[in-house]
Amino acid sequence: MNVSDSERVATVLSRDGFEMTDDEASADVVIFNTCSVREKAEHKLYTRVGHIRHAERKKPVVGVMGCVAQLEGETLFKKIEGVDFVLGTRAVGRVSSAVNVTLGGVSGYIDVGEREDDYDWTVADTHRHSPYVAFLPIIEGCNKFCTYCIVPFSRGRERSLPASEIVRQVLDLRQKGVREIHLIGQNVNSYKPETDAGLENFVGKSPFSRLLRAVSATGIERIKFTTSFPRDFHEDIVEAIEEHENLCNWVHLPVQSGSNRVLKLMKRGHTIERYLKQVDRIKASNRDIALTTDIIVGFPGETEADFLDTVKMVEYCGFDMAYIFKYSPRPNTPAFEMIDSVSAAEKTLRFLELEKTQKYIQNNVLQRYLNQSLKVLVEGKSARDHNVLTGHSTCHKVVNFHGESSLLGEIVEVNITNVKPNSLFGEVAL
Ligand code: SAH
Ligand code: SF4
Repeated sequence: MNVSDSERVATVLSRDGFEMTDDEASADVVIFNTCSVREKAEHKLYTRVGHIRHAERKKPVVGVMGCVAQLEGETLFKKIEGVDFVLGTRAVGRVSSAVNVTLGGVSGYIDVGEREDDYDWTVADTHRHSPYVAFLPIIEGCNKFCTYCIVPFSRGRERSLPASEIVRQVLDLRQKGVREIHLIGQNVNSYKPETDAGLENFVGKSPFSRLLRAVSATGIERIKFTTSFPRDFHEDIVEAIEEHENLCNWVHLPVQSGSNRVLKLMKRGHTIERYLKQVDRIKASNRDIALTTDIIVGFPGETEADFLDTVKMVEYCGFDMAYIFKYSPRPNTPAFEMIDSVSAAEKTLRFLELEKTQKYIQNNVLQRYLNQSLKVLVEGKSARDHNVLTGHSTCHKVVNFHGESSLLGEIVEVNITNVKPNSLFGEVAL
């Protein structure tokens, strides 16, 4: 979501006459897009603004956007010396005004207002992270209020884009050469537009599965979606994937914990038994769906027994990949008021143990790709070796292989010859 917001801001600024530069030292304006999901991410901002302030050169205008901007608002000017303007999560469409006003000599400009009624959701055809892949927000905000999470406060309430608009954009992007679309949102499967427009001809038990079928019907080659919320993850989503080849075989389904007691404290709204049923259904699919997840260790009150339930769950699920986080207390969330009973040292121990378990399992799980041929969208050259091309498979694995630059933007069959901890290596199938 943050990458997508940055792309939007770059597009709006270019449209309004600004020019992007990769060279920080020559920039007249530097805008930081920030994350406040964990404390560490927030701290990065303080360090980076400090670097700019102390660099030996003309000081650029410094703006802060994203979740930290939204939550801190006015206080950011006091907290970090050198910040000139603050732009909230729903104010990105007005970035040019913020920059112009500040360049005009006003300091302390702040806009943490709501979206303008005519906000343009169109995905940029310039300034995207890839010419072949586009992130398309379908729902913003979050109504779930998991007790540890800052997102409902920083991103506001859930709001779904009309399906007709999403389909129009996919068709447009397809025509412009995009081959893979990522439908994005904090919880994509909570998608609930105000009207049926664009979904009329599509079946499905939830608006999201109907949307998947509608987007599939555009004929775009690959569709991925993230993140799915377990409570709202219905079998119908797996069925849609099974019915439509262009719905990719990857599901990101964050479990957070293997203990029902902790899940309850987190107010996740799902039990571990229900989650495992969903996992069983995904694994039983004929599409070989890759499954990834997020897990928090050291939530307030998590006992050794709760943690061992998480380890057991990880062993059972055989995730293709898991993002593991140490619980980070976020001010103003309900969990912030709970006693943070797990010491920092214990959180680290649990993190390392779970990471070790996941790595071991992951290596076994990924061996299933060995000697298989995967369809890879070639997105670029490897940063380490320019003779090596890199891209993603339909199951969202990073796949590297030897090949000519002429393959960039193509979808090629790659035979997997080597399984690495976080990627696959192969050769173009002849
Ligand atoms: N909407 C998604 C997740 C969005 S936030 C979902 O509900 O699954 C991305 C991930 O950050 C979460 O899945 C969670 O694992 C992690 N996270 C969120 N708040 C956190 C906190 N306070 N401490 C540690 N990890 C956190
Ligand atoms: Fe945060 Fe829960 Fe919403 Fe995910 S569903 S963004 S974890 S509040």
